[in-house]
Order: sequence, then structure tokens, then C-alpha cells
Amino acid sequence: MKLYKENQLKIYNSLSKSKELFKTIHDGHVGMYVCGPTVYSNAHLGNIRTFMFFDVVYRYFLHLGYKVRYVRNITDVGHLENDADHGEDRIAKKARLEQIEPMEVVQRYTVDFHEVLKKYNFLPPSIEPTATGHIVEQIEMIKIIIDKGFAYEINGSVYFDVVAYNKNNNYGILSGRKVEDAIHNTRTLDGQSDKRNPQDFALWKKADERHIMRWPSPWSDGFPGWHLECSVMSSKYLGTHFDIHGGGMDLKFPHHECEIAQSKICSGQQPVNYWMHTNMLLLNSQKMAKSTGNYILPDQILTGENTILSKAFSASVIRFFNMQANYRSILDFSSEALEASEKGYSKLMEAFNTLSKLSTSKSSSINIQEWKQKCYDAMNDDFNTPILISHLFEGVKFIHLIREGKETITATDLKVFSDTMNAFIFDVLGLLNNSKQSSSHKIDGVVELLIKLRKQARDNKDWALSDQIRDELITLGIQLKDGREGTSYTVN
Ligand code: AMP
Ligand code: ZN
Repeated sequence: MKLYKENQLKIYNSLSKSKELFKTIHDGHVGMYVCGPTVYSNAHLGNIRTFMFFDVVYRYFLHLGYKVRYVRNITDVGHLENDADHGEDRIAKKARLEQIEPMEVVQRYTVDFHEVLKKYNFLPPSIEPTATGHIVEQIEMIKIIIDKGFAYEINGSVYFDVVAYNKNNNYGILSGRKVEDAIHNTRTLDGQSDKRNPQDFALWKKADERHIMRWPSPWSDGFPGWHLECSVMSSKYLGTHFDIHGGGMDLKFPHHECEIAQSKICSGQQPVNYWMHTNMLLLNSQKMAKSTGNYILPDQILTGENTILSKAFSASVIRFFNMQANYRSILDFSSEALEASEKGYSKLMEAFNTLSKLSTSKSSSINIQEWKQKCYDAMNDDFNTPILISHLFEGVKFIHLIREGKETITATDLKVFSDTMNAFIFDVLGLLNNSKQSSSHKIDGVVELLIKLRKQARDNKDWALSDQIRDELITLGIQLKDGREGTSYTVN
């Protein structure tokens, strides 16, 4: 039997502001859409917090046996800063500053994003559609909204008519804002905008002559509004009514509010059953954000090249740190917090790595089934990872007590214990076993030593020994590369 049949999951729905029983639209299937990164610069650790939480949600659904279609887009159309009506788009600005093509900016940061996610052990989503790959569909959606009377064209740009929409719908259903307050283009100067109402948002913008990323449309050579791509790509791949939509809390308004309005006009129904929003990662008590310079990059944590942390930390320590907090709470990033997480994570791994060596008895003094259920209950309660981790540490306590002979466990129970620890630590939380990591660390050390010895051999003109080291490493799949900066290597 699939595990989801015996696990009654509750999800906090930002739409109803309450925890609701999770019921899928199609039995055994979950459709989930998460807003992806805007690829005009490197993703910072705040972005990673949000994506990592949804990676764990995805992992838990898979663990429960659901068939999941997880769609996370790439925003590669350059939108104006703060989604304003005037100014330069963020991708074009970066392209100008770096003197490269906008699509080179997009490529560079998309590749970087994928590399970071790989290092942090993310599962790839089922579909990762790009905004630029769906311009035709975005134009089609605009036509529908115009035909239905909820958008208008002015001077080559098309705007969604929020006031008309709000007559029979609630623009504010998600964010709780009132239309009168929902003037989200604070940057627009008086008289500069051609919109009917300040609340209206762009579906299509006419490009000025300097704008490089542009596409032909019935209205002008231009580019789509930011909110549109998510309505288009979610409905294309998940249907007009799907299970879960996620993103960071800061996307609730205007982005998700606008998505609901656009989608609802097109299909006539609420597009999403459960809206999930993650809270912010803070640095120096402020939201981690690119725009303020208050951020740390995921790579800077792994290399230790930063001015914030006392030393480098592994990707699993960062995962552990993130999962020790509830996703709906703010989380403060600091060196001390990471040091504490590192200790906790090592303790968990050390105990886990001795699990298979425990001796078994004829009877169990520990109720493993009850403990296992507590782990599931934690995740079933709106993905409560900190509570799950506290139960994993109860497991650590069991391991010590069994080893000291103070508690007993049968072989059958030990198998359940070990499988459950394994499932939650690695499959669901996505942590990596540090004993494996430390063995790769040891290989690094051994190869560095051989590189040093080979250099000594070459300095002594002992070409035979130097070649022998190189050739024998090749047979092990390790290739040395001599460069100006010294010798580096790759492992196949
Ligand atoms: P962006 O590329 O700016 O659209 O951000 C990608 C995702 O990261 C969005 O879901 C944001 O809500 C989320 N995000 C941005 N800053 C933070 C932060 N400091 N903490 C957590 N999530 C964030
Ligand atoms: Zn989105």
C-alpha cells in the first residue's frame, strides 16, 4: 500500500490562513508549482532557503508514494526593477554593466543556479520551463483577458484592469490588501504612467528603443509582464486548477495576487487549492536580499570565502540549519547558529553510522513503531521539520542506550529503526552522510600529496617516477592537469 493512503497530511494554506487537510485533485497525484529564480545574478542563501524547503516538500511527497509533477520556472525575461513601469530591466542592466548579451547573463546565472542546487543536493524539478520559451502562450493569455474585458491597451502596452476585476472578485483574497491600498507601483512618477488606475499591472510592455529583450505582439514590439509567465506556465503544465503553489512570503503581493486574478479571468475558477509561503532568511536582522547587499552566496559558505562566517561549512550543515527552523518562521543566519547546526548534524551522522553495528536481542524494550509514527506525524503536520529533527535525536538517544545495554531491540525492530532513520535523514531531508563526504575529503588529501611528490620527482628530473604517478592515477580515473597556477585534477 502507498504510504500516502495512511498519512493524513495537513498543510497551512495562505489563502484560508489555516491548516487544512491535504486532498489531491487527482488521486495519488500532486501538481506543484514554485516560482523560480530571476536569473540576472547569483541566487543568494535566502533564495536557497525557499527552494530548499520546497525540495523537502517534493521529497516527502515522493517518499509517500505520490506521483508528483513539480514545476519550477526560470524567470529569464528582463523585468523592470520592482516591476516598475519605467526604467531599465534587471537583465539588460547587468548585460550593459558586464558588456555581454542579455541571453549570456541568463545562461551564466541559470548554469550557476543549477550548479549550486547540485552541490546542495536538490532533486531537479519535473519541468523547469523558461519565460522566454513561452512568449507565444503569454500573448495568447493576454488576448483572452482582453476579450473577456479585463485588460486594455494603451500606447502599445496592455494592462490588467484591477478595478473591473474587483467588482465581482476579490483582488486581495491572498494578501488581504484592499484595492485602494494596492498601489504596487510606487516608483511610477505622476503623469509618467499611461495606466487607467494606479493598481493596474502590466501584461505587456512596449519596449523603448534601448530595450534589447523584445518580441513582436499584436500591440507592440515588447515584453510580457512578470506575473503573467507563472499563470501561463502553471496552467500549461499542471492545468487550470492544481494542488499547490509555492514561493517566498514576499511574493504574496503583488506577484501571487496578480497570478490569481489573471488565471481566474481565463478559467473562471480559483487556480490553486493550497498556497504555501516560506518566511524570510535574515542576515544582521534584515531580510537577506540582493538589492541591499545584505546577503551571502551559497558558494561562499562552502569555500569559506566571506567576511561573515568563522569558517567554511558543508552543504548538509546548511540544509540541517534550514530544517531546524519551521518554514513559516523567520530564520536568523549567523556563524554561531551554523556552528551549533554543525555539531547537531555530526552527532546525528555519528549515531546513524553505528546503527547497523548494534547488537539485537529477543525482545525490544523500545517502542519503535510509536517512534516511527511520531516522525511521520511531524511531517504530516505542515512539514514540521524541526519537530521531525527532535524525533531523530530521540532516535540518537535510543542508539546510545542500546549500545550501552540499557535498552534492547529485536532484529526486526532494528531494521524498521534503521530504514526509518535512513528515509527521513537522506530521502526526505536530503542530508548527505558525512562519512561519505569525509572519505572524498580523504581522497582529496591523498591526491594532493601525490601531486606534491610528483612535483618533487620532476624537480629531481626523475621523469620515470613523475610519469608513473600520473599514469597510475589515470587508471584510477583521476586525471592531473598541469597549468600556470600549478597542478589540478579531475575525478571521473
Ligand atoms: P527572486 O529570484 O528574487 O524571484 O527570488 C526567488 C525566491 O526566493 C522567491 O520565492 C523569493 O520569495 C525567495 N526569497 C527571496 N529572498 C528571500 C529570503 N531572504 N529568505 C527566503 N526566501 C527568499
Ligand atoms: Zn511566479
